[in-house]
Amino acid sequence: MLRQYELVERVKAYDPDADEAMLNRAYVYTVQKHGSQLRASGDPYFSHPVEVAGLMTDLKLDQETIITALLHDTVEDTLATIEDVEKNFGPEVARLVDGVTKLSKIEQMPENERAAENLRKFLLAMSEDLRVLLVKLADRLHNMRTLHHIKKLEKRQRIARETMDIYAPLAERVGMYEYMREMQLLAFEQLEPEAYHTITKRLEQLRTSDTGQVDRIALDIKQALSEAGLEVEVWGREKHPYSIWKKMAERHLPFEQVTDIMAFRVVAPKVEDCYRALGILHTTFQFVPGRFKDYISTPKNNGYRSLHTTLFYDQSMRVEVQIRTREMNQTNEFGLAAHWAYKQGDRPDGAVGWLRDLIEIVDASHDAEELLEHTKLAIYQDRIFAFTPKGALFQLPKGATPVDFAFAVHTDLGAQTVGAKINGRHMPLRTQMQNGDVVEIIKSKNAEPQLSWLGFVVTGKARASIRRAVRLKEREEVAEIGRKLFDEIAVHLPTKVGKKAIRQAVERLELEEEEDLMYAIGSAKLSDREVMEALVPGSTADLPEEPSQERAISIKGLTAGVGFTLAECCHPVPGDRIVGLRRKGVGVEVHAIDCLDLANGVDADWVDLSWGERSHGAVGRLSVVLYNRPGTLAEMAGVFAKNNANVMNLELTQRDDPFHTYEVDLEVQDLAHLTRIMSSLRATDAVAQTDRI
Ligand code: MN
Repeated sequence: MLRQYELVERVKAYDPDADEAMLNRAYVYTVQKHGSQLRASGDPYFSHPVEVAGLMTDLKLDQETIITALLHDTVEDTLATIEDVEKNFGPEVARLVDGVTKLSKIEQMPENERAAENLRKFLLAMSEDLRVLLVKLADRLHNMRTLHHIKKLEKRQRIARETMDIYAPLAERVGMYEYMREMQLLAFEQLEPEAYHTITKRLEQLRTSDTGQVDRIALDIKQALSEAGLEVEVWGREKHPYSIWKKMAERHLPFEQVTDIMAFRVVAPKVEDCYRALGILHTTFQFVPGRFKDYISTPKNNGYRSLHTTLFYDQSMRVEVQIRTREMNQTNEFGLAAHWAYKQGDRPDGAVGWLRDLIEIVDASHDAEELLEHTKLAIYQDRIFAFTPKGALFQLPKGATPVDFAFAVHTDLGAQTVGAKINGRHMPLRTQMQNGDVVEIIKSKNAEPQLSWLGFVVTGKARASIRRAVRLKEREEVAEIGRKLFDEIAVHLPTKVGKKAIRQAVERLELEEEEDLMYAIGSAKLSDREVMEALVPGSTADLPEEPSQERAISIKGLTAGVGFTLAECCHPVPGDRIVGLRRKGVGVEVHAIDCLDLANGVDADWVDLSWGERSHGAVGRLSVVLYNRPGTLAEMAGVFAKNNANVMNLELTQRDDPFHTYEVDLEVQDLAHLTRIMSSLRATDAVAQTDRI
């Protein structure tokens, strides 16, 4: 274990300005707080935080990180509190220790209930501070190094599995390849003990039977390069047993057939030397096609830079070669930590974006099982996450808006949304949210989902809920009209109609409920006679075929015996000035004289026409623009009912806040009747505008 003065000296070596007194205090603090607690190894517990702090000095991290490492288990495992830590070591250390403590809590949850959400929240907080993750990774690495002291096999395997599935990938993602490799190796030993020992043994045998092969190849590489005038350093190593095992498993190969078990690293002074070295190696040795990778011109996401190639050595053996500069080498092994090292200046560009990637892996998972799956596969889903003002977290696809967010929180909240504040500012509902936004939904009880939202929402839930609400609303509105019309119909019946009669009518018409009946009436799917028959069977037997609104249209100007139809495009009613079009085979089509279709020019004979005397009963078509408020549709229906006009068809054609436009087919006596109806429509507050179509 590192002694107190050794640790302080290590920090002072790279940071002469470090606060020696505070480092000493932190060392003493952890020793005192952990007191007589013991590790599974029998060592005093405080040896663990001291070793973790030692790992952090290897990365030349700042003194806050070193102190955090020393204190990282005090709040979790001793009587120390965050307040106490803050009082003694300041707010920054307290914040970092709190971050590590929160992540440690996740480990204590039972296997399958480990909530990904907590990890996510932690990671979000951490995106402000990478140092929390670095301490956590060093903590895990040290625990893995001492894992063999734990007696229970199950516990060892659980910790190893977790390391393999969560921490090694996290180390990889922040570019800490050294940590990643060591964690994998230690976990592999626990998880696949037999494979581990077999491979280790085979590697040993290979080493003794073929002494110095790694060195020989390294020398050959170095020589080839120095002959071309390149001064480089070359290291060779066997790949570690876990990567060999992975290759065997992935390609279903026996050990003997895994040919590339050796890897070499060439460190050149400058970037251009790297490319020169590559060219020389490719001409000196045969290279394996398809294995060359240029991570110098295109670095990996985590900042890793190197050239990779695989060469044939002695015809049959494949060796992997990585070529990079010294600076790249340093960064590659310790990734972002290298950027964070003492006095490296500001946070490197992209660090935040990167951690966001990391958060996204974790965030895309709904539960622990899935988290493992995703971390393993390194799937980055196209997701963002946002918080409610109370701190609940919701994950949504990229491009999601406050409306999506509201529906994700609760369908009712979505339905009542009228506005949104993002990070405290009022923003339009169509605003695309960013990772980490705090979104407050402003709601109103009387609000309802708007059709126009479908233009920007991205989640299926929001989309479906809006559609459902709009459909329901339309249905309700039409049923409301139906109710008005129903009252008009009912007065013509010989008996009073009660609940029971309505229920029976619903059954006779094979509908589900009263609402369906009203909807059918409102949407003119049932005629008055059909409704009457359903309510009181036989009640229409004595009525004339077409009661009051019998159509009696005659047209003057037609040759006797020629059939005619009223045109569907302009819906002329008696009183309109009309003209006829003679069409082959279908007789004469009667149009209003200002029909737009005629203006476009038609290839047919024109016939002068006028309405016969006492012509009445035709279907006129209106467009009615209603204000979008409760009750306006009923008011329109009331006007139709009062004026004895049958609604033949009703359709909502445009929903454009604050107006709803309906197209109404109305059976009227004549133009005077229709004009009267239009005037009374215009006279109501419900109607913004009405016109013939
Ligand atoms: Mn620890």
